[in-house]
Amino acid sequence: MSTIEAVRGDITTQRVDAIVNAANSGLLGGGGVDGAIHRAAGPRLLEECRALRAGSLRDGLPVGDAVATGAGRLPCDFVIHTVGPNRHAGQTDPADLARCFTSSLAVAREVGAASVAFPAISAGVYGWAGADVARIATEAVRADLAERGGVDLVRFVLFSEELLELFEARLAG
Ligand code: ADP
Repeated sequence: MSTIEAVRGDITTQRVDAIVNAANSGLLGGGGVDGAIHRAAGPRLLEECRALRAGSLRDGLPVGDAVATGAGRLPCDFVIHTVGPNRHAGQTDPADLARCFTSSLAVAREVGAASVAFPAISAGVYGWAGADVARIATEAVRADLAERGGVDLVRFVLFSEELLELFEARLAG
């Protein structure tokens, strides 16, 4: 059985095998959690992202897809970058957001990451309601782990008390 938990905190300090970045499709950094991850990881992370853009991801990472890099100076081994749907750009399909979680878990299995921390993807600049993100994220992760296993711990790391309560309520239900 896998453990799924929610904590309030900063994802950049999590001691897990992989943390997930709510990136944008350009992969070259941004605001919010993306900026915090790049600042804490240092320049090596950006170099790896640039290399991806110069190679297999010339057109950027599509919404809902995920890709792994190393983690620079972060206390984890991998950063898994995924791109949430941007509500302000009309990307309102919950399946796209669910796929961010399932593709990130698929990448975690590929690289052998047994513990994974997720932020509240799309709940910031990309404009999704926290309650919707909490429901979609917890349902997607639960279903995926029940079906495929292979990841021992999923930890949702929430930046606000409000988001923490929304995720906790979903996990308790
Ligand atoms: P998106 O563009 O996918 O909406 P954001 O980074 O704007 O991504 O926000 C996603 C969520 O991550 C928000 O709830 C935001 O408060 C939160 N967040 C920002 N910095 C951190 C951090 N260091 N650790 C965890 N969560 C963070």
